[in-house]
Amino acid sequence: MPNKDLPPGLEKATIIPRDEHTVSRRYISENALNVLRKLESAGFQGYLVGGGVRDLLLDKRPKDFDIATDATPEELRKLFRNSRIIGRRFKIVHLRYGREIIEVTTFRAPHDVNVEIDESASRRGIRNLDSAHSTAGMILRDNVYGNVDEDALRRDFTVNALYYTTKDFSILDFSTGMQDLKERKIRMIGDPVARYKEDPVRMLRALRFSAKLDFDIEESTLKPIDELAYLLESISPARLFDETIKLLASGQAEATFALLRKYQPGNYLFAPTLRALLTSFRGRDQAAELLQLALRNTDNRLAEGKSVTPAFLYAALLWPVLRLKLELHPVPKLSPLQQFNAAANSAIAEQLTYTSIPKRFTQVTKEIWELQSRLETRNRRAAEGVFEHPRFRAAYDFLLLREEGGENLGGVGAWWTEFQEGDEELREQLLQHLPREQKPRRRSRRRKS
Ligand code: ATP
Ligand code: MG
Repeated sequence: MPNKDLPPGLEKATIIPRDEHTVSRRYISENALNVLRKLESAGFQGYLVGGGVRDLLLDKRPKDFDIATDATPEELRKLFRNSRIIGRRFKIVHLRYGREIIEVTTFRAPHDVNVEIDESASRRGIRNLDSAHSTAGMILRDNVYGNVDEDALRRDFTVNALYYTTKDFSILDFSTGMQDLKERKIRMIGDPVARYKEDPVRMLRALRFSAKLDFDIEESTLKPIDELAYLLESISPARLFDETIKLLASGQAEATFALLRKYQPGNYLFAPTLRALLTSFRGRDQAAELLQLALRNTDNRLAEGKSVTPAFLYAALLWPVLRLKLELHPVPKLSPLQQFNAAANSAIAEQLTYTSIPKRFTQVTKEIWELQSRLETRNRRAAEGVFEHPRFRAAYDFLLLREEGGENLGGVGAWWTEFQEGDEELREQLLQHLPREQKPRRRSRRRKS
């Protein structure tokens, strides 16, 4: 007999009681728990969902906590003073607690259902006119609200569609999430082709989760990826930038990058020159080596709890492009510095049509590059100036990577290491040994004798 008190849709769940799974409240952020409590005491449903549940079941530390609820964005705005509605295509609510942001989404419903108003939504006065598809089947707006079971089936992969409730600490599974988690499989919910057409970014997400979790991509989920990769052309460069950063800051950048090179979707993240460099790699040359090291470095930094900046990642990705441009297209009339600036700007501009990297990052990328020649120039003035520069540390790290990657810079990295680690006295000594700056030679007018 259906339980009348049960929220609609719940009867469709397989329920995993608290003693049959490993998710423990102890590892859930206090803020996320408070949000769940507050939702419940206001009479709404609230579940932890997505990476927060998946990662805890895998004994990993979740990157962030996502919550799903039947409260609408507007109701959430009223309930939480620290809330902000984000996005139009897909409205979500961000709750800010200092540095932590809890993402809250209202249950979505499928919306190829002839604008049918679902009961609980109509009760709360929600008009079901907020969805739109493009002719190619891509979701343009997705603000049709529904029940928890519908919400589950709108999510991308089965392992991302597990719901944890603090009401009785059980997990709700509406698809095959628990089974796939056990078998370490990334499986699309529903028909993979249709779901990729709805949102092509899901192809990149499949690759990301596969690398991050070390899961296989289930066969029918993997199969259409190369053929449908071209759909990523319709995704805005802003979203592709966000996705690139998620891919490379997943803690498994090396493994992720290997997948991006293996499968077609990776081709839609990088400009042609970079792509050409990547595909011509035989895995041994300097550009490949530098990139490999930068990715490993990124993974190590994240493992140590340090931050990584897109500026540094793009500095490494685009460095071989910059070098190539300098080699292939020297403009004789320009000074070396002008040549360098032109090549740097062009390397970045080309990439911006694929991923719109915010200016605050490209600025730093350029600074890291500019400082390279100043770090290589061994004279006293240059050395003193560069050490004071706010990007010194990033530029120095980059210099070390270049050397490690096989560029012969005459041991300048080791000199800087000694300089940095030394005390005032040692620094002074090291500087003493450098030549003073040579004045730029004036072009002397030829005198007639
Ligand atoms: P992580 O936060 O570790 O990157 P996540 O699974 O939490 O992984 P988010 O991007 O935070 O990923 O999204 C939260 C959840 O929202 C996902 O687990 C998934 O259920 C759903 N989701 C996110 N993006 C999509 C999408 N493009 N299509 C369908 N569902 C999505
Ligand atoms: Mg998440």
